[in-house]
Amino acid sequence: MDKKIKLIIDFDSTFVKLETIEILADFALHTKNDKDKILNQIKDITNKAMIGKIPFSRALNQRIKLINPRQEHINKTIIFLKKNISKSFEKNIEFFRKNHENCYIISGGFKEIIMPVIEDFNIKENQIFANTFIHKNNNITINENNPLSKDNGKNIIAKNISGYKIIVGDGYTDYEVKKYKNAKKFVQFVENINRISLNNKADLVCDDFKKIITFIKNDI
Ligand SMILES: [Mg+2]
Repeated sequence: MDKKIKLIIDFDSTFVKLETIEILADFALHTKNDKDKILNQIKDITNKAMIGKIPFSRALNQRIKLINPRQEHINKTIIFLKKNISKSFEKNIEFFRKNHENCYIISGGFKEIIMPVIEDFNIKENQIFANTFIHKNNNITINENNPLSKDNGKNIIAKNISGYKIIVGDGYTDYEVKKYKNAKKFVQFVENINRISLNNKADLVCDDFKKIITFIKNDI
């Protein structure tokens, strides 16, 4: 892979099949009577953020407050997501092992969870950007000084990566990295979810990571 090409990859619903925050919520709310009601509230907030209806920072803070997670729930989420890596990522793990120096993760998810989930793919810690938890008095909150907790966080991080950047993701915040010119191409990854409103904004709509490898070879 050309050294100049930098693949910036989203995590939730892209690298893994599901949204981390929904899995975390599922474990954390397990014993609560109004679990379904809270889960629906969380899903609703996620979807609104994904289509750009509400700011990302507000969506994240609202959801973590509703979830109120503990360390045991984080641990269970890691084990669960490791078994739910997207099929075509799993199949193409060799690509990552060979090209990890060209690969970055930029995610609104959580670094503490992402790192152990994708450890077999060889992407180094300094190329994984995501939100960070603050653990205090058995309470877990989001570090609000981290750019990824704020609106436009993905752009702030992507700006500092040099090269010919291709962003791969399923959501609006991924598209925005191309929109604000911090990536040359936006690949909409639809193996797990196809957000139709983004289709006409993508340079490639793709349901298999293998097609991204071909795209890099042939179209750039
Ligand atoms: Mg995503």
